[in-house]
Amino acid sequence: MSLTVDLSGKTALVMGVANARSLGWAIAEPLLAAGCRVGFSYQGERLKGELDKLLAGHAGVWSQQADATREEDLAALFARVREEFGHLDYLVHSIAYAPRPAMEGRFISTTSDDWNTALNVSAYTLVSAARHAEGLLRDGGSVVSLTYHASRQVVPKYNVMGVAKAALEAATRYLAADLGAAGVRVNTISAGAMRTVAARSIPGFSGLYDEAGRRAALGRHATPEEVGKLALFLLSDLGSGVTGQTVYVDAGASVMTMPLPG
Ligand code: NAP
Repeated sequence: MSLTVDLSGKTALVMGVANARSLGWAIAEPLLAAGCRVGFSYQGERLKGELDKLLAGHAGVWSQQADATREEDLAALFARVREEFGHLDYLVHSIAYAPRPAMEGRFISTTSDDWNTALNVSAYTLVSAARHAEGLLRDGGSVVSLTYHASRQVVPKYNVMGVAKAALEAATRYLAADLGAAGVRVNTISAGAMRTVAARSIPGFSGLYDEAGRRAALGRHATPEEVGKLALFLLSDLGSGVTGQTVYVDAGASVMTMPLPG
């Protein structure tokens, strides 16, 4: 069976592409390949050069700076979405941050400031972005974000980011309930460990990465391309009927307690 997804006439906003390794970019690529018109937001001007390089050669794309924690940036970003597209079909949230000290020590030492920052950037921004998008999202619209299994099990050093991911997953369910009546779906993708800028800033990430590959049921890591394929499914009509879910793409690392012997 050959199944092609045609997203011509559809529009998407992807928030959080730092470079070619970003999971946001892994999601944008199949959207662009399927003919979707895509706008991008980036946090600071220092990332604009990288993004411009990625976008060169793609027709109909645009980008705008927006710190997702700033209401005025979000208001300007979604005003731009309205101006460029008139409506929005797909919203991709691929944003997370926790201050480094919160991921170096023991979880019990998390300061209130670091807690607030991590949860604000990594979870609340999904809620605020969805609120700004609400008036633009049409029936059949879909919102996707990215989470990680440390929301459910302790991953050493992930600390407050595990709590932020648990909040993101819960927020996904509440947003799905709020937006469901308008025919808009909200899901989050739980991706396996992947080598990105954000991941490299987690202390001990390479040990975690190696262990995930050893233990995964498929005996390998999931890839960014596989994250992109799952996002395409969840965003497009292929995923109609799926909402409020945390969907894993981790090559089965999270279902194993240890590698099979031999
Ligand atoms: P990434 O390429 O570094 O992307 C993270 C993005 O978040 C960056 O573009 C970063 O911008 C942006 N960001 C941080 N604070 C922001 C703010 N206040 N406003 C707007 N943007 C902000 O890393 P990634 O691994 O692809 O991360 C994307 C998502 O995947 C995150 O939610 C992450 O937790 C999730 N995830 C990653 C993995 C993994 O192993 N890589 C696994 C599961 C889930 P700056 O570069 O300017 O800070």
